[in-house]
Amino acid sequence: MADTPIDVIPEPKLLRKDAAPSRIVHPKLNQARTKIIATVGPACESVEILTELVHHGVDIFRINAAHGTQADYSRVLGKIKQVREITGFQVGVLLDLAGPKIRLGALADGPMDVVPGEEFTFIRGNVTTDPHHLVGTYPKLIDELQIGDRVLLADGTISMQAIEKTKDSVKCKILIGGTIRSRQGINLPGTTLSVPAMQSEDIENAKWAAQNEIDFVSMSFVRTAQDVFSLKNLLASWECNALVVAKIEKREALDALEAIVDATDAVMVARGDLGVEIDVAETPVAQKRIINVCRDKLKPVIVATQMLESMHHNRRPTRAEASDVANAILDGADACMLSGETAIGEYPIDAVDTMNRIMLHTEQLFKDQPQSSKVKVFDRVHPITSAVTHSAASIAETIDAKLVVIASHTGGTAWVKAKQRNYIPTLGVSDSPAILRRMCLFWGIMPHGVEKLGDPQSLFDEVSAWGCKTGILSPGDRVVYVTGTGLLDNAHNLLVVHQVPKIV
Ligand code: PEP
Repeated sequence: MADTPIDVIPEPKLLRKDAAPSRIVHPKLNQARTKIIATVGPACESVEILTELVHHGVDIFRINAAHGTQADYSRVLGKIKQVREITGFQVGVLLDLAGPKIRLGALADGPMDVVPGEEFTFIRGNVTTDPHHLVGTYPKLIDELQIGDRVLLADGTISMQAIEKTKDSVKCKILIGGTIRSRQGINLPGTTLSVPAMQSEDIENAKWAAQNEIDFVSMSFVRTAQDVFSLKNLLASWECNALVVAKIEKREALDALEAIVDATDAVMVARGDLGVEIDVAETPVAQKRIINVCRDKLKPVIVATQMLESMHHNRRPTRAEASDVANAILDGADACMLSGETAIGEYPIDAVDTMNRIMLHTEQLFKDQPQSSKVKVFDRVHPITSAVTHSAASIAETIDAKLVVIASHTGGTAWVKAKQRNYIPTLGVSDSPAILRRMCLFWGIMPHGVEKLGDPQSLFDEVSAWGCKTGILSPGDRVVYVTGTGLLDNAHNLLVVHQVPKIV
């Protein structure tokens, strides 16, 4: 079967043809179409809780490389593999590279409460013995800071301004006070830094991702399309098929947004740092713009950070948080991400469950939207694939089919269907665990493993048998299949309406 050409989604070169087919017991028909990414941390790291999180709706686990060592990531990955075995669900894994995050070094006398008007001086080097001297982890900080620049600490809660500069120091005055602690993050909105996009630890961690069949690798503090290419080239040099996720969290990235979205496989609206690097008041509109560009360019987009922030310590979210998740979906997000809520919060399972329920309710709005008769033809996607996937949904709606089934070697055709946003339950079928995990990011696509993607008839038989066994299908139900004849190299051109036979 041919599949959609997707220079948007790279061809997998390393498919493990020998790998066992995924044993999807339950393709999560009761779960949201918008995908859930949960960050792994001490609050959820046991196999039991990770398993519960998958049962409550997690599609992808995020390992945050800003914390821990490769031994820690390997330990977590081992547990996630056990969860795949237990649940039969090929949950995906995203490794989030820390990127050029600048931090304070150690303070001379430990934490300090600072007030507006106080002055502190950044000096060269890694160590200070004077409490009013600060050091940073970025060697060129003194050279690149200019008088008038703002320096923000602790997620932007503390603000200072550079007021005096010498060859080896920059004096800053506190504008908004708070508590300064060692290793706090430094944000320099408006300062152009020459720091490389990937630090040596990022390169080492990307290599670990390649060696461990990680599905998605995200890059922090992307500034240009070239930054994205540097990671893609590195991964390609190791024959790694992981999809690259560009985190948009700097003004420079917003300025180069179209080129970055063209370059990357997927995007994350990283609202934590974005809300510090630009005025927090600008972030809702920035979120909408990023999502719109991703929709136009057919790239998956994740909305991240503080989605259910209050659930760190509460079983219920605020009304505003519920609306935030709903609005991200209505804006067009493909996935929403939980960070501290699952990594260090008191109620990780409740947070996932709540997010899933908000999604399910919100997605009802898609159900009532009839298919537009106009096919959206995406750039760089074969128009036949666009037309066939669109028509599959429209036929399914007309004949009240139970399922659309998309056979996909690369995930490309499933991805086109995802971006067309219709409510009809859709299975993305593959014989490759890596492709099933890739589909974990695709809106409305339930990854489903089959023994072999061979001829269409054996696919109909296998899906019918499985559907009847699980109770998802009954004899007489209609199923719309999208596959390829193999006659066209780059398009899925076969659309078949199949009725589940009486005896399967
Ligand atoms: C963010 O800044 O929103 C984000 C997701 O990145 P991190 O959690 O690494 O700060």
